[in-house]
Amino acid sequence: MKDIAYEELQAFEGRAAEEAGRGKDPVNRPMIRHWCEAMGDGNPAYGGADPVAPATMLQAWTMGGLSANGGRFRAHDELFALLDGAGYTSVVATDCEQEYLRALRPGDEITFDAVIESVSERKTTKLGTGHFVTTRMDVRVGDDLAGTHRFRILKYAPVKQRPKGERPTGEQPKGGQPKGERPRPVVNRDNAGFWAGVAEHRLLIQRCDGCGELRFPWLPGCNACGSPVWDAVEASGDGTVYSYVVMHHPPFPAFDPPYAVGLVELAEGVRIVSNIVGVPYDKVRIGMSVRLEFRRVDTELELPVFRAVDVAGGAG
Ligand code: ZN
Repeated sequence: MKDIAYEELQAFEGRAAEEAGRGKDPVNRPMIRHWCEAMGDGNPAYGGADPVAPATMLQAWTMGGLSANGGRFRAHDELFALLDGAGYTSVVATDCEQEYLRALRPGDEITFDAVIESVSERKTTKLGTGHFVTTRMDVRVGDDLAGTHRFRILKYAPVKQRPKGERPTGEQPKGGQPKGERPRPVVNRDNAGFWAGVAEHRLLIQRCDGCGELRFPWLPGCNACGSPVWDAVEASGDGTVYSYVVMHHPPFPAFDPPYAVGLVELAEGVRIVSNIVGVPYDKVRIGMSVRLEFRRVDTELELPVFRAVDVAGGAG
């Protein structure tokens, strides 16, 4: 990993990342409806005779889809090539901030420009050492600025994996080669209580003090009534597989594809994404009964997982 003169990185600040982009479709009801269904948001403002689009859809109207926006990201390409060449070969999206200035309605034609807003000095994080790159996209309808979307990534040199055999692992992959480290959960003030529960082998669900609605994953406020006041209830641990996917790609050192990722509906009614264990990945089925247990993944990390019960009956 080489040091890059910070001035060389700062020279990218203010350079256009994308100019005169156009939304592939105008703001439209079908996309609004699909978004609201996916989010479970029944707010009447997003339907009816004169709907507005959910403000958080801002970026959705700018996305290029699979065919992307070929070849229009030169400043990013150059910056990433410079960082890659210096050994900062990995990338992770860290956060996104949006500001909303004007409601979007069906028929609005979206244009946008993106600029590399800032490149940080070299920072050391738990993932490794690297530079944060912030890109700001201004989204417009005609001459009106509808909102801004800031997207930050960390381009970094990953911390070297520890030598073979040093790390205890919960599951050894076929062939016994060491696994990389599972990603660490981001623990913050909104979800610290959940992880405190995990440390005590309790799966805690938030319960709204205003309306009693249960919610998971943890959030600072209630989606149903808006109340920020809550307490927590412990899940019984019983659940069923509501849905699942089998991951084949991309490979990641901590995982051993193919493996099943389940969306488990707890007996209490909320859903959690987790591993399904005790059953081969290709025998996981929707509706399968599962039972909570806690699995130590490495010396620092324990996770709630779900063990298939009555596999013989459910395996098909
Ligand atoms: Zn509520």
